[in-house]
Amino acid sequence: MSLIEVDVVVVGGGIVGSSAALNLARGGQRVALVERDFCGSHSSGVNYGGVRRQGRTLVQLPLSTRAHAIWGQLRDWIGVDGEYTRSGHLKLARSDADFAALQAYERQTRDYGLNLQLLDRRALRERFAWVGDIAVGASYCPEDGHANPRLVSPAFAQAAQRSGAQVFEQCQVLEVTHDGQRFTVPCSNGLTLRAPWLLNCAGAWSAQLAERFGEPVPLTAAHPAMLVTEPLPLFMTASTGVEGGGIYARQVSRGNCVLGGGRGFALGPTTARAGQAAVLDILRNATELYPALTGAQAIRTWSGTEGYLPDDEPVIGPSLTQPGLLHGFGFAGAGFQIGPAAGEALAQCILLGAPRHSLAAFSIGRFHTIPTQKEHLS
Ligand SMILES: Cc1cc2nc3c(=O)[nH]c(=O)nc-3n(C[C@H](O)[C@H](O)[C@H](O)COP(=O)(O)OP(=O)(O)OC[C@H]3O[C@@H](n4cnc5c(N)ncnc54)[C@H](O)[C@@H]3O)c2cc1C
Repeated sequence: MSLIEVDVVVVGGGIVGSSAALNLARGGQRVALVERDFCGSHSSGVNYGGVRRQGRTLVQLPLSTRAHAIWGQLRDWIGVDGEYTRSGHLKLARSDADFAALQAYERQTRDYGLNLQLLDRRALRERFAWVGDIAVGASYCPEDGHANPRLVSPAFAQAAQRSGAQVFEQCQVLEVTHDGQRFTVPCSNGLTLRAPWLLNCAGAWSAQLAERFGEPVPLTAAHPAMLVTEPLPLFMTASTGVEGGGIYARQVSRGNCVLGGGRGFALGPTTARAGQAAVLDILRNATELYPALTGAQAIRTWSGTEGYLPDDEPVIGPSLTQPGLLHGFGFAGAGFQIGPAAGEALAQCILLGAPRHSLAAFSIGRFHTIPTQKEHLS
Protein backbone atom coordinates (compact mmCIF):
# COMPACT_ATOMS: atom_id res chain seq x y z
CA MET A 1 0.00 0.00 0.00
CA SER A 2 1.46 3.37 -0.92
CA LEU A 3 0.91 6.41 1.27
CA ILE A 4 1.18 9.95 -0.05
CA GLU A 5 1.14 13.06 2.13
CA VAL A 6 -0.15 16.26 0.52
CA ASP A 7 -1.66 19.56 1.64
CA VAL A 8 -5.01 19.08 -0.08
CA VAL A 9 -6.94 16.10 -1.42
CA VAL A 10 -9.61 17.02 -3.97
CA VAL A 11 -12.28 14.36 -4.45
CA GLY A 12 -13.76 14.56 -7.97
CA GLY A 13 -12.16 15.55 -11.26
CA GLY A 14 -15.09 17.48 -12.72
CA ILE A 15 -14.73 21.14 -13.65
CA VAL A 16 -15.16 22.27 -10.02
CA GLY A 17 -12.59 19.93 -8.46
CA SER A 18 -10.15 20.37 -11.33
CA SER A 19 -10.39 24.16 -11.17
CA ALA A 20 -9.82 24.03 -7.41
CA ALA A 21 -6.80 21.75 -7.93
CA LEU A 22 -5.42 24.08 -10.60
CA ASN A 23 -5.73 27.14 -8.38
CA LEU A 24 -4.26 25.34 -5.37
CA ALA A 25 -1.31 23.96 -7.32
CA ARG A 26 -0.61 27.41 -8.75
CA GLY A 27 -0.79 28.74 -5.20
CA GLY A 28 2.02 26.42 -4.14
CA GLN A 29 -0.04 23.71 -2.40
CA ARG A 30 0.76 20.02 -2.76
CA VAL A 31 -2.46 18.71 -4.28
CA ALA A 32 -3.86 15.28 -5.09
CA LEU A 33 -6.87 15.28 -7.45
CA VAL A 34 -8.65 11.94 -7.15
CA GLU A 35 -11.20 10.87 -9.77
CA ARG A 36 -13.22 7.63 -9.70
CA ASP A 37 -13.48 7.42 -13.51
CA PHE A 38 -11.78 9.92 -15.85
CA CYS A 39 -11.49 13.64 -15.28
CA GLY A 40 -14.41 15.35 -17.01
CA SER A 41 -16.18 12.08 -17.82
CA HIS A 42 -19.41 12.95 -15.96
CA SER A 43 -21.56 16.14 -15.97
CA SER A 44 -18.59 18.39 -16.66
CA GLY A 45 -17.72 16.63 -19.91
CA VAL A 46 -21.16 15.64 -21.22
CA ASN A 47 -23.19 18.78 -20.62
CA TYR A 48 -24.86 20.99 -23.21
CA GLY A 49 -21.98 23.46 -23.24
CA GLY A 50 -23.96 26.57 -22.33
CA VAL A 51 -21.73 29.26 -20.88
CA ARG A 52 -24.33 31.76 -19.77
CA ARG A 53 -24.92 34.20 -16.96
CA GLN A 54 -28.38 35.18 -18.17
CA GLY A 55 -31.10 33.48 -16.15
CA ARG A 56 -29.01 32.87 -13.03
CA THR A 57 -30.30 33.87 -9.63
CA LEU A 58 -28.99 37.13 -8.22
CA VAL A 59 -26.98 35.30 -5.55
CA GLN A 60 -25.03 33.44 -8.26
CA LEU A 61 -24.24 36.49 -10.36
CA PRO A 62 -21.08 37.71 -8.53
CA LEU A 63 -19.43 34.28 -8.87
CA SER A 64 -20.81 33.87 -12.39
CA THR A 65 -19.35 37.26 -13.32
CA ARG A 66 -15.95 36.13 -12.04
CA ALA A 67 -16.35 32.93 -14.09
CA HIS A 68 -17.13 35.08 -17.14
CA ALA A 69 -13.73 36.76 -16.72
CA ILE A 70 -11.98 33.36 -16.45
CA TRP A 71 -13.76 32.10 -19.57
CA GLY A 72 -12.55 35.21 -21.37
CA GLN A 73 -8.95 34.13 -20.71
CA LEU A 74 -9.55 30.39 -21.06
CA ARG A 75 -6.48 29.65 -23.16
CA ASP A 76 -4.22 31.30 -20.57
CA TRP A 77 -5.84 29.21 -17.85
CA ILE A 78 -5.97 25.75 -19.44
CA GLY A 79 -3.95 25.95 -22.66
CA VAL A 80 -6.86 25.37 -25.11
CA ASP A 81 -9.75 27.53 -26.29
CA GLY A 82 -12.23 24.66 -25.85
CA GLU A 83 -14.24 26.01 -28.82
CA TYR A 84 -15.45 28.74 -26.45
CA THR A 85 -17.30 31.44 -28.31
CA ARG A 86 -19.13 34.51 -27.08
CA SER A 87 -21.98 33.97 -29.49
CA GLY A 88 -24.51 35.74 -27.30
CA HIS A 89 -27.37 34.04 -25.46
CA LEU A 90 -30.92 34.58 -26.64
CA LYS A 91 -33.67 33.78 -24.15
CA LEU A 92 -37.00 33.47 -25.91
CA ALA A 93 -40.47 34.20 -24.58
CA ARG A 94 -43.42 32.21 -25.89
CA SER A 95 -46.09 34.32 -24.19
CA ASP A 96 -46.59 37.90 -23.01
CA ALA A 97 -46.29 36.69 -19.41
CA ASP A 98 -42.91 35.12 -20.22
CA PHE A 99 -41.76 38.34 -21.90
CA ALA A 100 -42.81 40.26 -18.79
CA ALA A 101 -40.66 37.88 -16.73
CA LEU A 102 -37.68 38.61 -19.00
CA GLN A 103 -38.31 42.35 -18.59
CA ALA A 104 -38.40 41.99 -14.81
CA TYR A 105 -35.12 40.01 -14.84
CA GLU A 106 -33.48 42.71 -16.95
CA ARG A 107 -34.50 45.33 -14.35
CA GLN A 108 -33.23 43.23 -11.42
CA THR A 109 -29.83 42.51 -12.96
CA ARG A 110 -28.80 45.95 -14.25
CA ASP A 111 -25.93 46.21 -11.75
CA TYR A 112 -24.29 42.95 -12.84
CA GLY A 113 -22.96 43.91 -16.26
CA LEU A 114 -25.05 41.48 -18.29
CA ASN A 115 -26.07 44.29 -20.67
CA LEU A 116 -29.31 42.53 -21.52
CA GLN A 117 -31.13 43.76 -24.61
CA LEU A 118 -34.90 43.28 -24.69
CA LEU A 119 -36.30 42.53 -28.14
CA ASP A 120 -40.00 42.77 -28.89
CA ARG A 121 -41.51 40.61 -31.63
CA ARG A 122 -40.49 43.00 -34.42
CA ALA A 123 -36.94 43.52 -33.20
CA LEU A 124 -36.55 39.77 -32.71
CA ARG A 125 -37.68 39.05 -36.29
CA GLU A 126 -35.35 41.70 -37.69
CA ARG A 127 -32.31 40.52 -35.80
CA PHE A 128 -32.82 36.77 -35.49
CA ALA A 129 -34.94 35.81 -38.49
CA TRP A 130 -34.32 32.11 -37.88
CA VAL A 131 -36.43 32.11 -34.68
CA GLY A 132 -39.94 30.65 -35.13
CA ASP A 133 -43.13 32.73 -34.99
CA ILE A 134 -44.06 31.14 -31.68
CA ALA A 135 -41.60 33.49 -29.94
CA VAL A 136 -43.19 36.82 -28.96
CA GLY A 137 -39.99 38.45 -27.71
CA ALA A 138 -36.57 37.75 -26.24
CA SER A 139 -33.78 38.92 -24.00
CA TYR A 140 -30.31 38.91 -25.53
CA CYS A 141 -27.09 38.76 -23.52
CA PRO A 142 -24.35 39.66 -26.02
CA GLU A 143 -21.33 38.26 -24.15
CA ASP A 144 -22.73 34.89 -23.05
CA GLY A 145 -21.89 31.94 -25.25
CA HIS A 146 -21.01 28.27 -25.46
CA ALA A 147 -18.08 25.86 -25.46
CA ASN A 148 -17.24 22.20 -25.96
CA PRO A 149 -17.35 20.53 -22.52
CA ARG A 150 -15.44 17.47 -23.75
CA LEU A 151 -12.45 19.70 -24.44
CA VAL A 152 -12.76 22.21 -21.60
CA SER A 153 -13.28 20.05 -18.52
CA PRO A 154 -10.46 17.49 -18.96
CA ALA A 155 -8.20 20.43 -19.87
CA PHE A 156 -8.72 21.93 -16.40
CA ALA A 157 -7.39 18.68 -14.85
CA GLN A 158 -4.50 18.55 -17.32
CA ALA A 159 -3.61 22.16 -16.49
CA ALA A 160 -3.70 21.29 -12.78
CA GLN A 161 -1.31 18.42 -13.46
CA ARG A 162 1.07 20.65 -15.43
CA SER A 163 1.03 23.05 -12.47
CA GLY A 164 2.16 20.27 -10.13
CA ALA A 165 -1.02 18.57 -8.92
CA GLN A 166 -0.90 14.78 -8.75
CA VAL A 167 -3.89 13.43 -10.66
CA PHE A 168 -5.21 9.93 -9.94
CA GLU A 169 -7.85 8.58 -12.33
CA GLN A 170 -9.83 5.34 -12.03
CA CYS A 171 -9.29 5.80 -8.32
CA GLN A 172 -12.38 5.90 -6.12
CA VAL A 173 -12.18 7.51 -2.69
CA LEU A 174 -13.50 5.09 -0.06
CA GLU A 175 -14.27 5.68 3.66
CA VAL A 176 -12.50 8.89 4.73
CA THR A 177 -11.47 9.39 8.37
CA HIS A 178 -10.05 12.32 10.35
CA ASP A 179 -7.69 11.92 13.30
CA GLY A 180 -8.09 15.43 14.71
CA GLN A 181 -5.35 16.83 12.48
CA ARG A 182 -5.49 15.21 9.09
CA PHE A 183 -7.77 13.27 6.79
CA THR A 184 -6.85 9.75 5.80
CA VAL A 185 -8.23 9.00 2.35
CA PRO A 186 -8.11 5.36 1.25
CA CYS A 187 -8.68 4.75 -2.47
CA SER A 188 -9.90 1.78 -4.50
CA ASN A 189 -6.51 1.27 -6.19
CA GLY A 190 -4.68 0.69 -2.90
CA LEU A 191 -3.39 4.24 -2.60
CA THR A 192 -3.85 6.13 0.69
CA LEU A 193 -3.62 9.90 0.85
CA ARG A 194 -3.20 12.06 3.93
CA ALA A 195 -3.86 15.79 4.10
CA PRO A 196 -5.12 18.50 6.46
CA TRP A 197 -7.55 19.72 3.76
CA LEU A 198 -10.20 17.76 1.87
CA LEU A 199 -12.42 19.12 -0.93
CA ASN A 200 -15.69 17.34 -1.58
CA CYS A 201 -16.26 18.02 -5.30
CA ALA A 202 -17.82 14.65 -6.09
CA GLY A 203 -20.77 16.01 -8.10
CA ALA A 204 -24.01 14.04 -7.74
CA TRP A 205 -22.18 11.63 -5.42
CA SER A 206 -21.13 14.23 -2.81
CA ALA A 207 -23.78 13.54 -0.18
CA GLN A 208 -21.99 10.47 1.14
CA LEU A 209 -18.85 12.37 2.15
CA ALA A 210 -20.90 15.21 3.66
CA GLU A 211 -22.96 12.75 5.67
CA ARG A 212 -19.79 10.96 6.81
CA PHE A 213 -18.89 14.20 8.62
CA GLY A 214 -22.32 14.81 10.12
CA GLU A 215 -23.82 16.98 7.36
CA PRO A 216 -26.60 15.09 5.58
CA VAL A 217 -27.91 16.97 2.54
CA PRO A 218 -31.02 16.33 0.42
CA LEU A 219 -28.99 15.93 -2.79
CA THR A 220 -30.78 14.11 -5.60
CA ALA A 221 -29.55 13.04 -9.04
CA ALA A 222 -31.28 13.90 -12.31
CA HIS A 223 -30.40 13.45 -15.95
CA PRO A 224 -30.90 16.28 -18.49
CA ALA A 225 -31.64 14.87 -21.95
CA MET A 226 -29.47 15.92 -24.90
CA LEU A 227 -29.19 15.31 -28.63
CA VAL A 228 -27.08 16.48 -31.54
CA THR A 229 -28.17 16.74 -35.18
CA GLU A 230 -26.32 16.03 -38.38
CA PRO A 231 -24.35 19.04 -39.68
CA LEU A 232 -26.70 21.69 -41.11
CA PRO A 233 -26.05 24.96 -42.95
CA LEU A 234 -25.07 27.56 -40.36
CA PHE A 235 -28.08 29.61 -39.22
CA MET A 236 -28.18 29.79 -35.42
CA THR A 237 -26.15 32.85 -34.56
CA ALA A 238 -26.65 32.68 -30.78
CA SER A 239 -27.01 30.03 -28.09
CA THR A 240 -30.68 29.95 -27.09
CA GLY A 241 -33.01 29.00 -24.29
CA VAL A 242 -36.61 29.74 -23.40
CA GLU A 243 -38.14 31.48 -20.41
CA GLY A 244 -39.59 28.80 -18.17
CA GLY A 245 -37.15 26.20 -19.50
CA GLY A 246 -38.02 23.19 -21.63
CA ILE A 247 -35.52 23.49 -24.46
CA TYR A 248 -32.16 25.01 -25.32
CA ALA A 249 -30.12 24.86 -28.51
CA ARG A 250 -26.83 25.98 -30.02
CA GLN A 251 -25.05 25.35 -33.32
CA VAL A 252 -21.35 24.58 -33.49
CA SER A 253 -19.07 25.79 -36.28
CA ARG A 254 -19.15 22.34 -37.94
CA GLY A 255 -22.93 22.81 -38.40
CA ASN A 256 -24.26 20.32 -35.86
CA CYS A 257 -27.01 21.64 -33.58
CA VAL A 258 -26.82 20.57 -29.94
CA LEU A 259 -30.22 20.53 -28.21
CA GLY A 260 -31.28 19.81 -24.67
CA GLY A 261 -34.52 19.68 -22.71
CA GLY A 262 -36.46 17.54 -20.28
CA ARG A 263 -35.11 14.65 -18.32
CA GLY A 264 -33.69 11.27 -19.19
CA PHE A 265 -33.25 8.38 -16.80
CA ALA A 266 -30.55 6.54 -14.84
CA LEU A 267 -29.25 3.25 -16.14
CA GLY A 268 -27.19 2.76 -12.99
CA PRO A 269 -25.49 4.86 -10.29
CA THR A 270 -23.08 6.46 -12.79
CA THR A 271 -24.76 6.06 -16.19
CA ALA A 272 -27.81 7.67 -17.79
CA ARG A 273 -29.70 7.82 -21.08
CA ALA A 274 -31.81 10.54 -22.71
CA GLY A 275 -34.79 8.25 -23.36
CA GLN A 276 -37.24 8.30 -26.26
CA ALA A 277 -39.93 10.48 -24.63
CA ALA A 278 -37.55 13.34 -23.83
CA VAL A 279 -35.95 13.16 -27.28
CA LEU A 280 -39.33 13.36 -29.04
CA ASP A 281 -40.29 16.34 -26.85
CA ILE A 282 -37.07 18.15 -27.74
CA LEU A 283 -37.62 17.58 -31.46
CA ARG A 284 -41.25 18.76 -31.30
CA ASN A 285 -40.34 21.93 -29.40
CA ALA A 286 -37.33 22.53 -31.61
CA THR A 287 -39.18 22.73 -34.90
CA GLU A 288 -41.60 25.33 -33.48
CA LEU A 289 -38.79 27.52 -32.16
CA TYR A 290 -36.20 26.89 -34.88
CA PRO A 291 -38.01 25.98 -38.13
CA ALA A 292 -34.70 25.29 -39.91
CA LEU A 293 -34.49 22.13 -37.82
CA THR A 294 -37.58 20.61 -39.45
CA GLY A 295 -36.62 17.18 -40.74
CA ALA A 296 -33.10 17.34 -39.28
CA GLN A 297 -31.66 13.98 -38.34
CA ALA A 298 -30.58 13.46 -34.71
CA ILE A 299 -27.34 11.48 -34.86
CA ARG A 300 -26.72 10.94 -31.13
CA THR A 301 -28.57 11.28 -27.85
CA TRP A 302 -27.12 11.20 -24.34
CA SER A 303 -27.52 12.31 -20.77
CA GLY A 304 -25.44 12.66 -17.60
CA THR A 305 -25.80 12.49 -13.84
CA GLU A 306 -26.18 15.85 -12.13
CA GLY A 307 -26.70 16.75 -8.45
CA TYR A 308 -29.66 18.94 -7.40
CA LEU A 309 -30.54 20.42 -4.01
CA PRO A 310 -34.15 21.42 -3.27
CA ASP A 311 -33.51 25.16 -3.81
CA ASP A 312 -31.46 24.55 -7.00
CA GLU A 313 -28.51 26.44 -5.50
CA PRO A 314 -25.14 24.73 -4.98
CA VAL A 315 -23.33 24.13 -1.73
CA ILE A 316 -19.96 25.91 -1.91
CA GLY A 317 -17.77 26.51 1.11
CA PRO A 318 -16.56 25.13 4.43
CA SER A 319 -18.12 22.29 6.35
CA LEU A 320 -19.74 23.50 9.55
CA THR A 321 -18.90 20.30 11.41
CA GLN A 322 -15.40 19.29 10.25
CA PRO A 323 -12.50 21.75 10.11
CA GLY A 324 -10.44 21.29 6.94
CA LEU A 325 -13.38 19.98 4.91
CA LEU A 326 -14.80 22.10 2.06
CA HIS A 327 -17.77 21.30 -0.15
CA GLY A 328 -18.52 22.23 -3.77
CA PHE A 329 -21.47 20.35 -5.28
CA GLY A 330 -25.14 20.51 -6.30
CA PHE A 331 -24.87 22.81 -9.31
CA ALA A 332 -28.35 21.89 -10.56
CA GLY A 333 -27.68 21.72 -14.29
CA ALA A 334 -25.80 25.02 -14.40
CA GLY A 335 -22.29 24.38 -13.04
CA PHE A 336 -20.31 24.38 -16.28
CA GLN A 337 -20.22 28.16 -16.61
CA ILE A 338 -19.73 28.90 -12.91
CA GLY A 339 -17.51 25.88 -12.14
CA PRO A 340 -14.13 27.54 -12.80
CA ALA A 341 -15.01 30.33 -10.33
CA ALA A 342 -16.48 27.92 -7.78
CA GLY A 343 -13.22 25.95 -7.82
CA GLU A 344 -11.22 29.15 -7.52
CA ALA A 345 -13.33 30.27 -4.53
CA LEU A 346 -12.74 26.94 -2.77
CA ALA A 347 -9.01 27.30 -3.37
CA GLN A 348 -9.11 30.83 -1.95
CA CYS A 349 -10.62 29.47 1.29
CA ILE A 350 -7.31 27.62 1.75
CA LEU A 351 -4.83 30.00 0.09
CA LEU A 352 -6.26 33.26 1.48
CA GLY A 353 -8.25 32.01 4.45
CA ALA A 354 -11.48 33.28 2.85
CA PRO A 355 -13.03 33.52 -0.63
CA ARG A 356 -12.93 36.84 -2.53
CA HIS A 357 -16.69 36.59 -3.20
CA SER A 358 -19.03 35.79 -0.34
CA LEU A 359 -20.21 32.19 -0.33
CA ALA A 360 -22.78 32.79 2.43
CA ALA A 361 -25.75 32.04 0.14
CA PHE A 362 -24.26 28.64 -0.66
CA SER A 363 -23.56 27.48 2.89
CA ILE A 364 -24.35 23.88 3.71
CA GLY A 365 -25.82 25.28 6.93
CA ARG A 366 -29.11 25.97 5.12
CA PHE A 367 -29.80 22.23 5.27
CA HIS A 368 -28.85 21.76 8.91
CA THR A 369 -31.87 21.23 11.07
CA ILE A 370 -31.83 23.35 14.18
CA PRO A 371 -32.90 21.05 17.02
CA THR A 372 -36.06 22.15 18.81
CA GLN A 373 -35.83 22.79 22.54
CA LYS A 374 -37.65 19.53 23.26
CA GLU A 375 -35.08 17.58 21.21
CA HIS A 376 -32.31 19.40 23.10
CA LEU A 377 -33.63 18.35 26.46
CA SER A 378 -34.37 14.73 25.63
C1 LIG B 1 -26.66 16.79 -19.69
C2 LIG B 1 -26.24 17.97 -18.89
C3 LIG B 1 -26.33 19.26 -19.44
C4 LIG B 1 -25.87 20.36 -18.72
N1 LIG B 1 -25.79 21.57 -19.34
C5 LIG B 1 -25.17 22.62 -18.73
C6 LIG B 1 -24.96 23.84 -19.40
O1 LIG B 1 -25.29 23.99 -20.56
N2 LIG B 1 -24.36 24.86 -18.73
C7 LIG B 1 -23.97 24.74 -17.45
O2 LIG B 1 -23.46 25.72 -16.89
N3 LIG B 1 -24.11 23.56 -16.79
C8 LIG B 1 -24.69 22.50 -17.40
N4 LIG B 1 -24.83 21.31 -16.76
C9 LIG B 1 -24.37 21.19 -15.37
C10 LIG B 1 -22.87 21.04 -15.29
O3 LIG B 1 -22.39 20.13 -16.24
C11 LIG B 1 -22.52 20.58 -13.88
O4 LIG B 1 -23.16 21.41 -12.92
C12 LIG B 1 -21.02 20.65 -13.61
O5 LIG B 1 -20.31 20.00 -14.61
C13 LIG B 1 -20.74 20.01 -12.25
O6 LIG B 1 -19.36 19.86 -12.11
P1 LIG B 1 -18.78 19.04 -10.90
O7 LIG B 1 -17.32 19.12 -10.99
O8 LIG B 1 -19.45 19.53 -9.65
O9 LIG B 1 -19.35 17.56 -11.08
P2 LIG B 1 -18.95 16.34 -12.05
O10 LIG B 1 -18.59 16.79 -13.40
O11 LIG B 1 -20.06 15.35 -11.92
O12 LIG B 1 -17.66 15.78 -11.37
C14 LIG B 1 -17.68 15.09 -10.15
C15 LIG B 1 -16.69 13.95 -10.27
O13 LIG B 1 -16.53 13.32 -9.01
C16 LIG B 1 -16.20 11.98 -9.24
N5 LIG B 1 -16.44 11.19 -8.02
C17 LIG B 1 -17.62 10.96 -7.40
N6 LIG B 1 -17.44 10.22 -6.30
C18 LIG B 1 -16.11 9.97 -6.22
C19 LIG B 1 -15.31 9.24 -5.31
N7 LIG B 1 -15.82 8.61 -4.23
N8 LIG B 1 -13.97 9.16 -5.53
C20 LIG B 1 -13.41 9.81 -6.60
N9 LIG B 1 -14.14 10.52 -7.50
C21 LIG B 1 -15.48 10.59 -7.32
C22 LIG B 1 -17.12 11.58 -10.40
O14 LIG B 1 -16.63 10.45 -11.09
C23 LIG B 1 -17.13 12.86 -11.23
O15 LIG B 1 -16.22 12.80 -12.32
C24 LIG B 1 -25.36 20.18 -17.41
C25 LIG B 1 -25.31 18.90 -16.84
C26 LIG B 1 -25.74 17.81 -17.57
C27 LIG B 1 -25.65 16.44 -16.94
